[in-house]
Amino acid sequence: MVDWKNPPKLFIPGPVHMLPEVLEQLSRYSLGHRGKEYSQLHEETVTMLKELLSTTQSVFLSTSSASGIWEGSIRNCIDHDETILCTMCGAFSDKFATVARACGRNVEELKVEWGQPITVDMIDKKLADGKYAAISLVHNETSTGLTNPVYEISEMMKAKYPDVLVLVDSVSGMVGLPLEFDKLGWDVVFASVQKAFAIPPGLAVFAVSDRAMAKSKTVTGRGYYFDFQEFAKSGAKNQTPTTPVIPHIMALNYQCKKLLAEGMENVWKRHAEMADFVRSWAKEKFELFCDEQYASNTLTTIKNTRGIDVAGTIKAIQEKHNTIFGNGYGKLKEQAFRIAHMGDINLDDLKELLGWIDEEIS
Ligand SMILES: *Cc1c(COP(=O)(O)O)cnc(C)c1O
Repeated sequence: MVDWKNPPKLFIPGPVHMLPEVLEQLSRYSLGHRGKEYSQLHEETVTMLKELLSTTQSVFLSTSSASGIWEGSIRNCIDHDETILCTMCGAFSDKFATVARACGRNVEELKVEWGQPITVDMIDKKLADGKYAAISLVHNETSTGLTNPVYEISEMMKAKYPDVLVLVDSVSGMVGLPLEFDKLGWDVVFASVQKAFAIPPGLAVFAVSDRAMAKSKTVTGRGYYFDFQEFAKSGAKNQTPTTPVIPHIMALNYQCKKLLAEGMENVWKRHAEMADFVRSWAKEKFELFCDEQYASNTLTTIKNTRGIDVAGTIKAIQEKHNTIFGNGYGKLKEQAFRIAHMGDINLDDLKELLGWIDEEIS
C-alpha cells in the first residue's frame, strides 16, 4: 500500500506532481454551492482564468475530466447534418474523432503518423472543398510529446476559413504553453486540472467563443450535463448548473493566483527552460520521438533507441527513489518513454530524475 506521508512523486503526463499547499486547499470545509461565498469564489476564479487565457469571452468550470468537453464541444457546436474535420496525430487527437462519431456526427479524418505535426497546408488543402462546419485540433499531443503549430494554423483559419469553428484540446497545453484564446480566434478550448495546473484530477476548465455560444443555441440534442447554454445561464449567477467539485475550485483559485503573480510570460518561459533541459539530455542519451521543432515544452517523449527495459527502469526508480515517470503511450509502450515537465516542478527535480535514469541505464 501507498505510504501517504511519502507518496510517489509523479513525472507522468498527468496527474503531475502536486504541492502540499495545493492539496491543503482541497481539504477545507465545503461551501454551499448556491450561496454568496461560493459565487465569490467562482467569480474570482473565472476572472483569473480569463486573464490567464487572454480572453473576454466565456470561461466555464466543469465537474468532469476534460473528456467531457470533447463531447460537449461536439454536441454544442456541430449540427447533426454537418461534418467536422478531425485532425489526428496521436492517441488523444484520435480520440477526439472517436468521440465525435460516438455523438453521431459526420467525421472526416486528417491523419498523420504518430510523431508528425498537423500543418497549415494539410488543413488548408482539406478545407478548400468547403464542406466542414468545424475542425478539431490538439494543441499538445500527450502521446507523442508534440505541440502543433497552432498559432500558424489559427492565422490561416482566420484569414481563409473564418466561418469554420475551431475546437481545441489543450489538456496538456493550457497554462504551460502560450494560449491566448481571443487572439487565436478559437471557439472552444479545454483542459483538465491534473496537467499543467498541477491539481488532483476531477475538474475541467473550458473557454467558449461568443459565436460558438450563439451556434450552440441552434443545435438540438445538446444533452444536459455539457450543455453550454446551461453553463452560461448558471455562469451569469457565478454558479455551475450542477453541484461543482468545490474543493478543486478552491485549489484552482489558489493556483490561478500563483500563476498570475508569476506572470504568464514567465510561466511559459519556465516550462521552455525545463523542456530544453530534458531535451538536451534526451538527445545525448537517446533521441526525441518527434522533430525538435515541434517538441513539447510540457512533456518530452523519448525514443527508446537503446532498447532499455522501460517498465523495469520505471519500477527500479520507483522502488529506490519513490518517483514515477511514464512509459510510452499505448502502442508506443517500451518503444518510447515520457517525462512530464509541467506545473509545480523545477530544474532541480528534473536533474535528480534524469540522474537516476542515468544510473539505471549505464
Ligand atoms: C490527459 C489528456 C486527455 C484526457 O484527459 P482526461 O482528464 O482523462 O479527460 C485528453 N487530451 C489530452 C491531450 C490529454 O493530455
